[in-house]
Amino acid sequence: MLKSLKGRLVVLFTAFLLFPLLLFIIVFNVRVESLFEGYASAQQDQRIQQVVSQVTDLFQTERGVVSLTGLETIGNAALQNGMVLHVTALEYEIDWDISTHRSEECQLMLQHREKNMHSRYPNFEGGYEQRSVDLTYNGLVIGEIVIGYYGPYTFDDGELTLINSLNKIFVILAVTFLALAVIFGVALAVNLAKPMTTASTLAKRISHGDYGAKINERYSLKETQALINAINDMSETLQTKEQQKRRLTADVAHELRTPLSNLQGHIEAVIDGVWEPTLELMESCHEEICRLTQIVNLLLELDKYEDGRVELQCEQFKVTDFFESLESSFKLAAQEKGIKLKTELDHEDALCLADQSRLKQCMVNLISNALRYTSPGGSVTVSYQDQASAYIYSVSDTGIGIAPEDLSQIFERFYRADRSRTTHTGGVGIGLTITKAIVEMHGGIITVDSKRNQGTIFTISLPRNTIAPYD
Ligand code: ADP
Repeated sequence: MLKSLKGRLVVLFTAFLLFPLLLFIIVFNVRVESLFEGYASAQQDQRIQQVVSQVTDLFQTERGVVSLTGLETIGNAALQNGMVLHVTALEYEIDWDISTHRSEECQLMLQHREKNMHSRYPNFEGGYEQRSVDLTYNGLVIGEIVIGYYGPYTFDDGELTLINSLNKIFVILAVTFLALAVIFGVALAVNLAKPMTTASTLAKRISHGDYGAKINERYSLKETQALINAINDMSETLQTKEQQKRRLTADVAHELRTPLSNLQGHIEAVIDGVWEPTLELMESCHEEICRLTQIVNLLLELDKYEDGRVELQCEQFKVTDFFESLESSFKLAAQEKGIKLKTELDHEDALCLADQSRLKQCMVNLISNALRYTSPGGSVTVSYQDQASAYIYSVSDTGIGIAPEDLSQIFERFYRADRSRTTHTGGVGIGLTITKAIVEMHGGIITVDSKRNQGTIFTISLPRNTIAPYD
């Protein structure tokens, strides 16, 4: 069975807090008990010693002619302190035993002491004990003092009350600490469990399709906040992916609809006998099919890049050679259109580390766009700059430019600034999206700057330190 975090934390917290406390109480109690035991034994010895010296003094002061009243006084006082006094000095005709005079009180006192000890220690092994000491007078042993008591040691009422009170204090302390431990444990558990519950509720919402749902509360615990941040990020990513998926479906449907309905119209016209299946008509159908194939191929390619399924093969190459191959690819097209194609390099020996063939794909996209949107008589310039932290490529033209409201969307899939013209020129609106994906795979950025009817400049910046050579 799964246990709740709250329950487990309370138990753990209580156990961690109580264990040292109980240990302390046990050790302290044992120590106090042994101290009390020592104290009680010492007290017993002291009292016996006191009685002995009182009896000896009595013989000394009364010069051997001891009155029984004196012995009685000492015996009664000793009885109050838990002792049964018996004094024998046969030479002086003394054999005084308090238990013969006050037998009942002696019994009661011994029973009381026994009860005291058993109330504290139910298994206390005690019994009646006696200690005999020589009675001396003028340096001579004249008899014997025998003191009986409940031993080996006993507590009187005062001592018993004290030790019981101490024990009660320990019990109260333990209960108080237990209550505090439970309160703190619950508070801590609630504190820790709450974000977990919130996180799991959010995760459940996300799993039910509520992408973009977030927790805005801030938590003071670093780990908790990291968990919440991770779930928030995941939710945001899923939302973006979902939006991309929806947009892609809509875009693709939109893009495929025109060539498909053209094809459908042409073929239906032939079937209905409205049009003859002439070569011209077939060419028109072929053109539409080629466009459909081009869209599908570009989409598949873009998907590979966006999905991260393409591995870059970065190598070092000479930028002059790279530019020469670009120039030879576009020389003819530029000449035919009457556009001047120029290359600019800040130094001839420049070396660049990148995936050359994919970078070429980017440059081909940019240069063909520049040629496409520049009128005869204009110019297209391809340039390279070697910077300390980046390789900078740019393609600028003196063409029609891009309207400011289109600039921010120019890298979006299927986005064409002038739809009617670009459809005519054969543009699909995926070239720049692919270019941006390739640049970003290198860890770089692509920017655009344009002025209507003056020209456009695209700049690719590839960071030097994040590109690793392919092996
Ligand atoms: P396309 O295949 O339509 O050229 P791109 O993604 O390469 O698709 O470009 C998207 C749109 O950006 C183009 O349709 C065009 O409107 C605009 N564009 C791109 N490059 C230039 C440029 N050099 N000058 C003016 N407009 C441009």
